Amino acid sequence: MTELKDTVHLNTDILVAGGGAAGMAAAKAASEQGATVILVEKSPVLGGILNRCTHPGFGLGYYDEEITGQEYAERYREELGSEDLTVLPDTTVIAVNEDRTALLVSEGRITEVSFRVLIAASGSYEVPIESVAPEGTRPAGIMTAGCAQGLINENHLEIGSRIIVLGSGNVGQIMAGQLADAGKEIIAIIEKNDAPGGLSRNVREYIKGRNLPLILNSTITKIHGTNRITGVTVKNLLTGEESILSCDTLITALGLIPDRALLDNICTDGTYPDWVILTGNCDRIYDFADAVTASGEQAGLTASLKCRSNK
Ligand SMILES: Cc1cc2nc3c(=O)[nH]c(=O)nc-3n(C[C@H](O)[C@H](O)[C@H](O)COP(=O)(O)OP(=O)(O)OC[C@H]3O[C@@H](n4cnc5c(N)ncnc54)[C@H](O)[C@@H]3O)c2cc1C
Repeated sequence: MTELKDTVHLNTDILVAGGGAAGMAAAKAASEQGATVILVEKSPVLGGILNRCTHPGFGLGYYDEEITGQEYAERYREELGSEDLTVLPDTTVIAVNEDRTALLVSEGRITEVSFRVLIAASGSYEVPIESVAPEGTRPAGIMTAGCAQGLINENHLEIGSRIIVLGSGNVGQIMAGQLADAGKEIIAIIEKNDAPGGLSRNVREYIKGRNLPLILNSTITKIHGTNRITGVTVKNLLTGEESILSCDTLITALGLIPDRALLDNICTDGTYPDWVILTGNCDRIYDFADAVTASGEQAGLTASLKCRSNK
């Protein structure tokens, strides 16, 4: 490998890539077992998806109390106090190599870390609109639910006022409910199946509780508008019938996929070396943060045991 000039070198037992619910729990559990841990998070603040979630529905399992995602993240951050834990916010893991080194980048500086175990806690990415591939161009006003949540809940920006949500899983329902509460007009939630997806508690609370218009057995086949979206063509998948609905914003909530791009370099035939542990949404998509925290804790314990048995 090329020797990088001016590169800082660090050593640690465990490197945790990603500081959402899973990464925080993994880092805490491992450091409490006496392993040295470096927790790397590309955003300035630990918490991941939790930081975007202003709705309640978090923490009943872990804190025995219903709180918002933002509150869950804040409380968990306060629990990270071990001397053996180094947290590197605003830092991205850009490469993981077969020789158990990783490259981190922060403000143009590169750090090389040698580690014994890697905990991959890099979360998930959202299924893009191109999986539906509607006709037409892609004017302003089309965004994923995660992007909309970030703009509204983290950056306090407006996104539009006449909203169509494509996809009725938990994420789509929560987004539609939150926007309705903020006075936006929900033109429709469009779902390809014959029933809304997601948890029944969300269907009760968001779709039924707020009387949101749900169009089942349907998808969108065309985007209308040049500079800004003006509407979509909706197709009934049972009858083939099409109609146009006007809107100024289309939010896609088409599902999440584990994000393992970081591990491409060390993946052989779909498997990873035994010094890699996947946790949280990077492993599989979880509905509840409590379960993600439990998955992270387990990953942290397993990683610290691996370190101990290799000493
Ligand atoms: C809209 C929505 C609503 C939800 N509502 C609820 C609810 O009501 N109740 C509940 O219990 N759960 C809810 N959940 C589920 C729960 O919030 C998530 O499953 C959980 O927070 C995921 O945690 P994670 O750590 O696996 O992933 P993430 O939170 O995505 O964390 C991954 C982190 O890794 C970082 N990262 C990625 N790549 C790198 C890299 N190369 N270098 C450094 N850092 C990197 C990211 O910046 C991110 O911070 C909801 C989820 C969503 C999306």
